[in-house]
Amino acid sequence: MQSDSIRNLVLVLGDQLDPGSSALKDIDSNLDAVWMAEVAEENTHVWCHKLRIASFLSAMRHFRDELAKRGLRVLYHELQTDPAHDRGTSFAEVMISDVAAYSPKKIVVVDPGDYRVRHQLQAAADDSGTPIEFREDTHFYCSIEQFAAYADGRKSLLMEFFYRHMRRTHGVLMDETGEPEGGQWNFDHDNRRSFGRSGPPDIPAQKSFRRDATTQQVLDLVNQRFADHPGSAEKLSVPITRRQAKAALKHFVEHLLPQFGQWEDAMWTDEAFLFHSRLSVPLNLKLLNPRECVNAAVDAWRTGKAPLNSVEGFVRQILGWREFIRGVYWVNMPEYEGLNHLNHQRELPSFFWDGDTEMNCVRQSMQHVLTDAYSHHIQRLMVLGNFAQLWGVHPKKFHDWHMAMYLDAVDWVSLPNTLGMSQFGDGGVVGTKPYCSGGNYINKMSNFCSGCRFNPRERTGEDACPFTTLYWEFLDRHTDRLSSNARMQMPLKNLGRLRQQGDLEAVRARAAELHAAWDHA
Ligand code: SF4
Repeated sequence: MQSDSIRNLVLVLGDQLDPGSSALKDIDSNLDAVWMAEVAEENTHVWCHKLRIASFLSAMRHFRDELAKRGLRVLYHELQTDPAHDRGTSFAEVMISDVAAYSPKKIVVVDPGDYRVRHQLQAAADDSGTPIEFREDTHFYCSIEQFAAYADGRKSLLMEFFYRHMRRTHGVLMDETGEPEGGQWNFDHDNRRSFGRSGPPDIPAQKSFRRDATTQQVLDLVNQRFADHPGSAEKLSVPITRRQAKAALKHFVEHLLPQFGQWEDAMWTDEAFLFHSRLSVPLNLKLLNPRECVNAAVDAWRTGKAPLNSVEGFVRQILGWREFIRGVYWVNMPEYEGLNHLNHQRELPSFFWDGDTEMNCVRQSMQHVLTDAYSHHIQRLMVLGNFAQLWGVHPKKFHDWHMAMYLDAVDWVSLPNTLGMSQFGDGGVVGTKPYCSGGNYINKMSNFCSGCRFNPRERTGEDACPFTTLYWEFLDRHTDRLSSNARMQMPLKNLGRLRQQGDLEAVRARAAELHAAWDHA
């Protein structure tokens, strides 16, 4: 870059750290500049976990340094310890001031993963009188237009059929006759094992990474400036560079993938990660490409290093679920964000912020959230999400909490997973029924109940498991709404039995006691 004049101002957002980004493909180091900004609004519009803030900032600063090594000019705004010294509080504010300073002919950015940010950037560009070009996010297998075409005319969207469509389209785990490898599309039946009384087998250690000076600076900043935010930033061990992300993928495929499938849904005391990859973090930052994850897993199966049930389960999450969720988000926003099918209005109880509860399963899951800004999918769906739904939490509030507390949460992936899948706020766009259960499911899939003061089999009385009480109360409260759902007929039949026995009054009374105790705790 020879002077202060800039042709294209190329924006790179915190979840767009893709070295092969479409925004960078034609960048001219003599004419253009990359623009990146750390802004307070992104860490405070939901009250973010310290570890989440630290991982985003550290990954962004490392990416800045990588781009500079490529010879690119990078205009980068760091958050300051003293907020008064920040350049601005939002992307829009900081961008407008740089557009005024450098008068670029055009702003270029990859489609943001957050509807709010996209509109904020469009408005800021309009205000500054500078055209903005949104480019397709080529990180994904399926473009938004392709998903919209797929969804067009379909009465309902089922992930399973979309997943099969993606397998066929991209030739993933398909045999030479066009049939799925192994003769079936999914191996869910093999992937629902619990550990039983003996507990998990030896679990290989997760790959972790030493912090460097850049990360240490970020941690110091976060601990000073965001001291009152939830959680701790001490255990920053996820990959925050491309090199680390590739090492984490290799480690997962070699050491964890072979056992991942069968234990996918199992939980165990003090085990945050088990055989899960945590690759959602570098994937959602775009440090990893989904194709390299899928290809590495499929190669492991083809070379006999991992069984098909594990590989298919992993591929389904990336090629199926992740792409499906993104499509659902973009074809349904902004209306989707306001959906509240069950008309739930409650706040999250305070133990969703500090883990202080007698419910062992919630305390265990929250411990992982507070120390690692992570818990695996069954703890999210069937412990924390399940509780929030049974409690009657407003689905958008649950999404906001998830956005604040999880390292891998970005709006496009969090909203359909929380508001839709977990809280049934969309009434069945993402899932075909509410994902709810009493304590028996948690008891079957973990050893949490043996260390809990509640009894998963009891639905009333002092020792009753709150999940069990609230499950029946939830079904009772929503009987009319759920009665037309074919997949809810069996639970509603069982509820009818309780009604006939005259047991529901006591369930309602116990649920009311729990609400009186925890609603404003
Ligand atoms: Fe959770 Fe209920 Fe089991 Fe306690 S008894 S760990 S609250 S499911």
